[in-house]
Amino acid sequence: MTTHAHLIEKFPIIESLVNKQEVLWINGERMPAEVALSSALLTAADVEDAEARLQRFAPYFARAFPETRESNGFIESEIAYIPKMQQALNEYYQVELQGQLAMKFDSHLPISGSIKARGGIYEVIKHTETLALNSGLLQPDENYEKLDSEEFRNFFSNYTIAVGSTGNLGLSIGIISAKLGFHVTVHMSADAKQWKKELLREKGVEVIEYASDYSLAVERGREQAAGDPNCHFIDDENSTDLFLGYAVAGVRLKAQLQEQGIIVDGEHPLHVYLPCGVGGGPGGVAFGLKLAFGDAVHCYFAEPTSSPCMTLGLITDLHDQIAVEDIGLDNRTEADGLAVGRASGFVGKVMKPFMSGCLTVSDETLFHMMHMFHEAEGIFLEPSAFAGMPGAYQVEEVHGKHSQATHLVWATGGGMVPEPMREEYLQKAASLYSDWRKK
Ligand SMILES: *Cc1c(COP(=O)(O)O)cnc(C)c1O
Repeated sequence: MTTHAHLIEKFPIIESLVNKQEVLWINGERMPAEVALSSALLTAADVEDAEARLQRFAPYFARAFPETRESNGFIESEIAYIPKMQQALNEYYQVELQGQLAMKFDSHLPISGSIKARGGIYEVIKHTETLALNSGLLQPDENYEKLDSEEFRNFFSNYTIAVGSTGNLGLSIGIISAKLGFHVTVHMSADAKQWKKELLREKGVEVIEYASDYSLAVERGREQAAGDPNCHFIDDENSTDLFLGYAVAGVRLKAQLQEQGIIVDGEHPLHVYLPCGVGGGPGGVAFGLKLAFGDAVHCYFAEPTSSPCMTLGLITDLHDQIAVEDIGLDNRTEADGLAVGRASGFVGKVMKPFMSGCLTVSDETLFHMMHMFHEAEGIFLEPSAFAGMPGAYQVEEVHGKHSQATHLVWATGGGMVPEPMREEYLQKAASLYSDWRKK
């Protein structure tokens, strides 16, 4: 264990990670947004290009997925204040939060019910557009509605899309790819829930299961694709397309806040807490937010105490060169969307200068939050979605109270969890909560 003794000496906070304590790490190397943006690999123009592509596909979505008709084919989620939860948390932490607590409901995004409906679907449609335009079957100025046809499904059936996933990415990519007519292979890690595998198989997706963790599932997917020129592998660890699909959330949120009269500027800071697995989802969203709000927004990654891969990578600057197992953690958590032991090196390096910090949360806390949220607001979310919930309280403790601040908890999943599973989760949450109250 000499490696981590050495790391602890250099970065004392790692001792708390090793002991699975909940921590808030503040990034001392954050730069002014303008400076960070001027040297970033990706630009505002890249994100605008992604937004324009999503607009071109809106008529297709509206036709193929009736649940997007109300939003004219846009895949977007609600934002709302959660005052009852704020009250419950004030009691839980025995401290009065000065800012306002709000939630972004990516848990209820159309098509796949998690944040993966942003990046995952975006990368698939980008690939789809390239194939369709190159074949001459689609002209650039045509209505993309025509992609929802036998002609195109036949054409896409000659191509394969492959991905490695802990569950939700596979769900998102499987659903959209199968709808378009692609052959899809999803390599699922051991954490992936049974119902997700079943749902995908019902839709004609080929699901391959692994007894080990996410990194191996990704590796196998990558190998499969390498041998087949007609196979596109969606690389959760390195993909800029996934990242850009997530980043579109920034401009969308800006418009949404303006509509609702919620001000974000130097005097009215916005703190955003983003549940983090490999990093693409929360990293992409954070990038989009920094483009939209600059220094007025403060972004934090939130991870389970058993799987703080991004926190560890950012603290040490080792990024994907270190895994949570290297400091003795087991990467076992009920927050299956966040059960990742090694972060994306690409995301860690791009996002380090933008991030305000990271926080870690125990599984016990996630279940307490699940119980309190269901009691207070009457809404079910999956465990991963609560990772950012304690953030506001930790940040006010460290940075001081700010009554004009908005604290936005990014709820990332849960909308598609079947009823019997919800009951199971909620029962467990209620019993853990009452055990804790008795202490
Ligand atoms: C995937 C996922 C995340 C995190 O996204 P990454 O790109 O893996 O960091 C957060 N919450 C849920 C529910 C997810 O499925």
